[in-house]
Amino acid sequence: MALLVLKFGGTSVSDIERIECVADKIVRETHAGHKVVVVVSAMSGITDRLVGYCLEINELHDVSEYDTVVSAGEQITSGLMAIALQKRGVKARSWLGWQIPIKTNNVYGKARIKSIGIEELHKHLDDGEVAVVPGFQGITEESRISTLGRGGSDTSAVALAAALGADRCDIYTDVNGVYTADPRIVPEASKISRISYEEMLELASLGSKVLQTRSVEMGAKSGVAIQVLSSFDDEVGSALKGTLVVTEEEIVEQVIVTGIAHRQDEAKVTVIGVEDRPSVAAGLFGPLAKAAVNVDMIVQNISADGRTDMTFTINKTDLARAIKVLEEDVECSYDKVITRENVCKISVVGIGMQSHAGVANTMFNTLGEKGINIHVISTSEIKISVLIDSDYTELALRSLHTAYGLDCQESNPE
Ligand code: ADP
Ligand code: ASP
Ligand code: MG
Repeated sequence: MALLVLKFGGTSVSDIERIECVADKIVRETHAGHKVVVVVSAMSGITDRLVGYCLEINELHDVSEYDTVVSAGEQITSGLMAIALQKRGVKARSWLGWQIPIKTNNVYGKARIKSIGIEELHKHLDDGEVAVVPGFQGITEESRISTLGRGGSDTSAVALAAALGADRCDIYTDVNGVYTADPRIVPEASKISRISYEEMLELASLGSKVLQTRSVEMGAKSGVAIQVLSSFDDEVGSALKGTLVVTEEEIVEQVIVTGIAHRQDEAKVTVIGVEDRPSVAAGLFGPLAKAAVNVDMIVQNISADGRTDMTFTINKTDLARAIKVLEEDVECSYDKVITRENVCKISVVGIGMQSHAGVANTMFNTLGEKGINIHVISTSEIKISVLIDSDYTELALRSLHTAYGLDCQESNPE
């Protein structure tokens, strides 16, 4: 008998028919004798709608109220899933974030989990009850609802698995594993059977939204066995061949490039004519950090006449906030700000890159041959990222996928 945490994402619970289908899967795990904690997302499209409502009223809304609104989607699914399980004769109840409690810090909109109360949950599980937990939500020290950032239900699931000492955390989604690139854009993408936490962390943070970055971080730290599988396949759990996220030592075949990630939600900001003097970067980026605007890639141009241009990328959703900070709070003078939203960041990732030269060259040559201009470049030990115009996203992804020899030889089911 194992303790399993099963997480079902938005498309897996998109309507009542899908919720009933998922309930049948859960029943199969309970009948196999497992203790089960279920983590559910909002039905697909709901969170986007709730975010839209907040933005419609005020783009610079209070983020704690935003959390009150957007956490509601998961609450609905958890109640519905408990009802569907009860209909099947399974003892089940919903556990909202505050009821467990899942305590987080006060960074509304992107809160981090600090602790999880497991005592009561364990008692109910020992009693044969299935716990249905709405993902994404927690409670702050101020006793207010918080959310864990978009895609945060993955993190709720892995955090619960870690706290409860679960044997496995199965992340059911709408693809049957982690692929070498988003299979919806690159049909030639191949499924990866085992991926290291380190590479998955890079891919996730660089845009492969199949797992939220923090869930991988938490998996690596706690050693939780994470498995990504499809809720649309007939089998459940260990019978399904998804992707296992494991330690580097457990990877048998080492490749140079493991996968290619992309993110379309970036915006490029160029601050023109910034005075070029010591501590100017701190004067610019300090206030942005204080306003919880995460800055990603940064390039500073060569200065002329004591002035320079500073380009950086941020999440599109932070753009209005960033402009406000630049207008009101930065501690340096500049001439003007230019923003651009139709950009895409493409990154190639692989642990094998550390010991191989020429990976960057292949990237630049491939993009050059296709006439794709690179705006910004950034590198780390196991990744190279470029910022390009989003019109070229698909072309860039597919050409790079071929150039690095990642194309699948068989046709994909998706
Ligand atoms: P869920 O609602 O189940 O959490 P998400 O939409 O958050 O699902 O994540 C699954 C999606 O991630 C897939 O539909 C796929 O388009 C996308 N994706 C991006 N990169 C990858 C990748 N490398 N492998 C698999 N899926 C990927
Ligand atoms: N519903 C939230 C979102 O769409 C959390 C999740 O699905 O993981 O971002
Ligand atoms: Mg997700």
